Amino acid sequence: MTDDIILHIGIDDTDSNEGMCTTYLTHIIIKQLKQQGIIPTDYPRLIRLNPFARYKTRGNGALSFTLKLQNKKEVELVEKIVLDNVEKYSMFDGINTNPGVIFYEGEITQEMKDYALNAIYSIYTIDYAENFAKKIGARVHKFKKGRGIIGSLASISLELTDETFECLAYRKPENIGTKRKLDQKSIYIMNEKTFPETFDNVDIEGNYTAIEPHTPCPVLYGIRGNTAEIVEQAHNMVISNEDIEDYCIFRTNQHTDMHIQEKIPISDMKCSSCYKIKCNVVENPYEIEGGHVFFKVSDGTGILECAAFEPTKRFRNIIRKLRNGDELIIYGGLNENHTFNIEKLNLIKKAPQYNLTNPLCDCGKRMKSAGKNKGYKCPKCGKKIRSSEKIKELINRDIQEGFYEVPTEARRHLSKPIVRMNL
Ligand code: ATP
Repeated sequence: MTDDIILHIGIDDTDSNEGMCTTYLTHIIIKQLKQQGIIPTDYPRLIRLNPFARYKTRGNGALSFTLKLQNKKEVELVEKIVLDNVEKYSMFDGINTNPGVIFYEGEITQEMKDYALNAIYSIYTIDYAENFAKKIGARVHKFKKGRGIIGSLASISLELTDETFECLAYRKPENIGTKRKLDQKSIYIMNEKTFPETFDNVDIEGNYTAIEPHTPCPVLYGIRGNTAEIVEQAHNMVISNEDIEDYCIFRTNQHTDMHIQEKIPISDMKCSSCYKIKCNVVENPYEIEGGHVFFKVSDGTGILECAAFEPTKRFRNIIRKLRNGDELIIYGGLNENHTFNIEKLNLIKKAPQYNLTNPLCDCGKRMKSAGKNKGYKCPKCGKKIRSSEKIKELINRDIQEGFYEVPTEARRHLSKPIVRMNL
């Protein structure tokens, strides 16, 4: 009797803007394996990696799952099924489609977990990933440039210190590319019955549903939530006016803030990485053409330009109200232009803001300047005062201290919604 073989399989970069979805391909593979009596040990994993990765199609997701196999022959069979399907279904015409598959046998080591976390924090080269894969004894399969091995390895290796689930429903092949036919009302009802255990599926304030993709991919919709049970229940509440081919539940690091690095000063921040920073506003917000709103903050080690871009919609109304001296904790990512894209913020302490006015006269009238450094004179009763100092009037600010976040449609997959923050 031989020991079981634990085989981890990672797949990434099989889709393009023209179609396919690596989640769907993974689902097809798992279905075929099940027909052979081979059942994954757990839900497949949809792992989101660095949101700044240059060649991503959409949300930089990589897929993986684990099998317990009896012998080498079974391993060979599995690997053949996986590779045949990647070969068959990948969108090889896509200029940035470079599939990569990783097979790894055994325990996930600490250095693999570190590799994975760094694939969220920073940017790797294909060579780096390939060398790492060889070092740990993984089997590497590259198609075209094989960039997908970067994500495949990370998907296998990431330790899920926090997790959520997504239930993805898939379309019948004949419907792919046509307008999706979902009963919108049923989505609102599903949300009403399952929120906040499900989240980011409907934006009540914005009055839209957010479960359908807008690309010609096989996904009909995806429902996000805290547990596998709740996303499945929620999926059963959605009414679709087109037939659903099938659905699959994924364990994922979406909505966990796993991309956010803490305790790094502004002076040490790197482009294409995401951070949480305690800071003060040092330059009031200003708007540029296109509706993008900028402001500047400092943590004492450097000054950071922050942005709420146009797609963040009503979130910009909050940003517009920030003022010099406000104490904040901001969450977001530093783009290649050194601008920090805000995902959410905590306004910890409002700095008092004042209007500077001329003093009021005893008679109730606002006084007028009597000339430079000559004090004030009342235009009504003629009273004079010597001091030229202006009076500070506290401004009543139309913003409360607390957390604010971008709306659902502008949220990064990895961003933890406030509703998950146990505040
Ligand atoms: P979808 O979400 O629809 O599956 P996607 O946005 O995940 O699409 P991919 O097609 O998977 O995009 O392309 C992302 C590519 O970036 C992959 O080749 C992946 O290996 C690579 N990648 C992932 N993380 C990093 C990283 N940290 N550094 C460099 N490349 C990365």
